[in-house]
Amino acid sequence: MSQELYCYLNGKIVKEGEAALSPFDRGFLWGDGVYEITPCFNGRLYRLKDHLDRLYRSLCYVRIDLRMGQEEIEKLTHDLLQMNLPHLGEGSVYRVGHWVTRGMDTPSMLARAAGPPTLFVFWRPVAVEAAAKSLAEGVRLSIVPTRRVPPPCLETRAKVTSKLNQILAEIEADAMNSLSLMLDIYGNVAENSTANFFIVRQGVLWTPPAQNVLEGITRKVVFEISSRLKIPLEERPFTLYDIAQSEEFFLTSSATCVTPVREVQGIRPSSPVPGPITKRLMAAFVEETGFDFSKYRPR
Ligand code: PLP
Repeated sequence: MSQELYCYLNGKIVKEGEAALSPFDRGFLWGDGVYEITPCFNGRLYRLKDHLDRLYRSLCYVRIDLRMGQEEIEKLTHDLLQMNLPHLGEGSVYRVGHWVTRGMDTPSMLARAAGPPTLFVFWRPVAVEAAAKSLAEGVRLSIVPTRRVPPPCLETRAKVTSKLNQILAEIEADAMNSLSLMLDIYGNVAENSTANFFIVRQGVLWTPPAQNVLEGITRKVVFEISSRLKIPLEERPFTLYDIAQSEEFFLTSSATCVTPVREVQGIRPSSPVPGPITKRLMAAFVEETGFDFSKYRPR
């Protein structure tokens, strides 16, 4: 825990070590909440508005009325950034969390009786050197037994704090010394427990349709960049069969942008890692974010 960093909890800005919440909060009891993670590269928030837009979409879906406008949250996040800026350090990347829960539970334990909602905003450091190593060398993925929850049961587009589905996937993959690749219940590729997944097949980027995965902000930026760079992209279902025919694979997530994948379930991409299209996207993200992980690669 950082001694210096400030966070926001239910109307107050306090030092991280002083933040306290009742165990009767429904976030703790039921995982009843939604969240966002916005990256902060070298003291600059990246795509905060996109993240807060998604936060409000998730809030609408789970019927939590935060009683606070998006602009107010945006402002308090910038105010917090100003307070934390002197402590963030050169070459730093932080995950800025916006966590919202339904608030205090009541003895009835009914969702409709709970509240007011809890809002917690905080900064968490990213291990930049470790991320830089993964970006340079690529990561290994294993298909895990736990399938991604089908959207009619719990919408995958919403970013909810009830994360056991993906946490089990992470634990299963960890036991295989790799990161996870989750399938949907039909056996189509879905996503990693904390990132979206792309392949390059015959020069075309393929990624699973949004209905089946979290609508990642980084995924959305890849759509923008690929359109700008005239790299064809298709949202479509695919399986391990298609992965086996592909030139490149990569993951996307906010704090690390594009991470090359060097192996999926023993299948290697036919191009060197990172492949040419992955490299172009990674370079475009350096431009976008102003942050170049390759400078922090351990020797
Ligand atoms: N998929 C899942 C399940 C995630 O939890 C995340 C990020 O937390 C992502 C994808 C990537 O989303 P984003 O690019 O918005 O970070």
